[in-house]
Amino acid sequence: MYAQLLTAARQPLVAAELPPPRPGPGQLLIAVRACAVCRTDLHVLDGELAEPKLPLVPGHEIIGTVVEQGEAAERFGIGDRVGVPWLGWTCGVCDYCRRGQENLCDRARFTGYQIDGGYAELTVADERYCFPIDPHYGDVEAAPLMCAGLIGYRTLRMAGDAQLVGIYGFGAAAHIVAQVARHQGRRFFAFSRPGDVAAQDFARSLGAEWAGDSTAPPPEPLDAALIFATVGALVPAALAATRKGGTVVCGGIHMSDIPSFPYRILWEERVVRSVANLTRRDAEEFLALAADAGVRTETVTYPLAEANRVLDE
Ligand SMILES: [Zn+2]
Ligand SMILES: [Zn+2]
Repeated sequence: MYAQLLTAARQPLVAAELPPPRPGPGQLLIAVRACAVCRTDLHVLDGELAEPKLPLVPGHEIIGTVVEQGEAAERFGIGDRVGVPWLGWTCGVCDYCRRGQENLCDRARFTGYQIDGGYAELTVADERYCFPIDPHYGDVEAAPLMCAGLIGYRTLRMAGDAQLVGIYGFGAAAHIVAQVARHQGRRFFAFSRPGDVAAQDFARSLGAEWAGDSTAPPPEPLDAALIFATVGALVPAALAATRKGGTVVCGGIHMSDIPSFPYRILWEERVVRSVANLTRRDAEEFLALAADAGVRTETVTYPLAEANRVLDE
């Protein structure tokens, strides 16, 4: 099968012809129809996430159809369309798994990082971590739901019942979260890189009541802030924009260092927290909610052979 392969960090992907993978017990062989590109792919390629299997087929926002079932795999039939997310395997027995925090599993394995992913014609996935995809979505349109959507949703969930949400970094995750937040009756403000008028206009088109520079104070204090950009300096900026008792949630897997800041902007019971990975429960909840809310995704399609160009952009 044709694949784009990472052979070492900080090297371009190379086109390769690999033997077709075989599904083991409980696994599915999936013909990949679309695989979205995630910021995390860049962190893997850059070596900021330092423990990939090598060589590696990256890609963890996979939509495909089942072409073969491994032994005892019975959740899906041949021809079924499934989505494969970042969380690829958990142990089920560690303290975290037992407490419903499988996203923090000590031995978790991730798609397109420790498990070959979707930058290929075929992929193999554990069926317990695959999800049916609502027929209203096209393959390409559904792909960003599998990570930008899922992690975005978990990030929003960590904001609790916040009514006014500030979204920092208006990219893939944010444009999905904005639609979910609106559907849930929340209000939102959008913060972009200073002067990024296009991002601010895009946010307004999705219902942002206010959109402005991340350095600007919002017109009213936020109940919660969600940070999707990888810039650590946004943490104190978001804290300063958040009301007493509010929460700042960092949705990324990697961020530049957070500069020191005065205690007074954290005081009054403000909370800073991060989000790591996803649980299967997040995926089930979010995929149902996305279909219900009619969440749409904006995409640009490229052939797999041009993966390096997309990652450069
Ligand atoms: Zn575990
Ligand atoms: Zn991702």
